Amino acid sequence: MEVILIVVSALFGSAIGSFLNVCIDRLPAGKSLLYPPSHCDTCQHPLSPKDLIPVFSYLWLRRRCRYCQASIPRRPFWVEVGSGLLFAFAYWQYGLSADFAVIAFYGCLFIVLGVIDLEHRLILNKIVYPAAVVALIISILRPPPGIIDVSLPWPLLGMVNGVIGGAIGFVFLLIPFLISRPFYSQGGMGEGDIKMAGLIGLIIGSRLVLVALLMGVILGGLVAGALLLLKIKKRKEAIPFGPFLSLATITTLLWGNGILNWYLGLF
Ligand SMILES: [Zn+2]
Repeated sequence: MEVILIVVSALFGSAIGSFLNVCIDRLPAGKSLLYPPSHCDTCQHPLSPKDLIPVFSYLWLRRRCRYCQASIPRRPFWVEVGSGLLFAFAYWQYGLSADFAVIAFYGCLFIVLGVIDLEHRLILNKIVYPAAVVALIISILRPPPGIIDVSLPWPLLGMVNGVIGGAIGFVFLLIPFLISRPFYSQGGMGEGDIKMAGLIGLIIGSRLVLVALLMGVILGGLVAGALLLLKIKKRKEAIPFGPFLSLATITTLLWGNGILNWYLGLF
């Protein structure tokens, strides 16, 4: 029974992934999310329901448009697979609960932020600001794990831990940004990354914010180093940081307490 529900969660997540792809395609261009309906970017033919089955349509059609045979980009497929995995892991960790809904929602948010940064080198304020407001409201209803455990009265506890987490995240990336700015006229860390780190702290809370940010820095450093070594990227080319922050944040949302306890157990 449990396995069936994990599979159902994965299928539901990949269907949500189709909508995330629409957000990723249209938000940077300032287009409507609802209109026009999904269509082939090459021949403009509207897609029928059988073309829109998450993950499977892509495999079945062998990456080609049914109407004009133009090849379909790879990213929508991987976003659907990724959000399917996100929902499956969230269900596995949290069962059918409010936590599941919150983690899945935040995971979707960071998939959209991360992929848009990967493709456009942009972290959109029109996503970050409303997300911060939503995160503040959620922190009242479901306090994120915090370093402050004095008995603050509800609704202060969650908000205080969220806001402290946000401040830690913001400052943690602001310092290297200010230090590196005289040396790099462009590229490197941007203002968007700093705002995103603040949002991450607000969401994850003061206890785990550094777990997510350090993981993002290490992950980004390793991948950037590997790309330079393999000469896939040149030293001058900027590698966006948002995708690594996103991946690290989703990992921390799912397994952060376990990771922190493992790390603290090393000493
Ligand atoms: Zn087409």
